[in-house]
Amino acid sequence: MDRIKFAIFTDLHYDHIHDGIQRIENFINNVRGAQVDFVIELGDFCSPKEENQFLLDMLDTIGKPHYHVMGNHDSDLFTKENVMEFLQMDNSYYSFKYGKVKFIVLDTCFIKTNDGYEPYYKRNYNKTEDIYPILPDYEFKWLENQLTDDSEHYVIFSHHSLENKFAERGVYNRESVRDLINKVNQAGNKVLLCINGHDHGDSLKKIEQTYYFGLNSMSYIWFGPQFEHFCYSDEIHKQYPGLKDLVLYREGLYSIITITANGGIEIQGMNGHYQNITPKELGLEDLWNGRSILPTISSLKIK
Ligand SMILES: [Zn+2]
Repeated sequence: MDRIKFAIFTDLHYDHIHDGIQRIENFINNVRGAQVDFVIELGDFCSPKEENQFLLDMLDTIGKPHYHVMGNHDSDLFTKENVMEFLQMDNSYYSFKYGKVKFIVLDTCFIKTNDGYEPYYKRNYNKTEDIYPILPDYEFKWLENQLTDDSEHYVIFSHHSLENKFAERGVYNRESVRDLINKVNQAGNKVLLCINGHDHGDSLKKIEQTYYFGLNSMSYIWFGPQFEHFCYSDEIHKQYPGLKDLVLYREGLYSIITITANGGIEIQGMNGHYQNITPKELGLEDLWNGRSILPTISSLKIK
């Protein structure tokens, strides 16, 4: 395998918007012809209920494996076990290999309590004074082991960022994780890329030898009730009460990423548009939660 290509999206939030199905449909139609090896989504996908099974069936029609990452909202109404069962995950953190590249999926949806770690469940992260999100110490050790095999390169996926400093957005122990990554990279350019969702913004930074890519949401930016606005029909707003707090992107944003045998990275980004209203019209600038909220996904090409 001299190159591995995958399609990626994050934060669809299917249950919170009126047009999630078009976004997934559009993604599938575009990815079908792209000859990817696999598809991955980085969490906050949909509630793990039976009525949403059709979303997974739709992803099946691409004819390639699809992988999933735990997002904080996936367990808003269900347990982590329910989410895992729905997404057919044996473990909430795991890895898989294509050729000599290992892809590592982290689960950062934990609260650090006095007695250990509590998984996210029914928005408990909104009600705690404890630390979150965090990579538990046992998962950290697992990651350390994962990064010491004979793979030539690694790509790490997580819902929360390993570099975003903005309050409670990035993984709490992100600096230790980055130290580990830098240590692994002393043996060469091993950890090429870390990709996260959750921030609903676009960012791409290189720290030491590794790129940290904050993938924009497929759907929208959340601004909250202080910026409420009604730009859809009454019927739609009634069915999706949270829609008034969002600014939707017109296009369903996604990316196609290629990793070459010698560690090259190609990120195929996107330049999209806002749908019915822009943040500027609400009096907002282009940054939110420390991220660019332009309806874009950055591109990158390095050999
Ligand atoms: Zn999230």
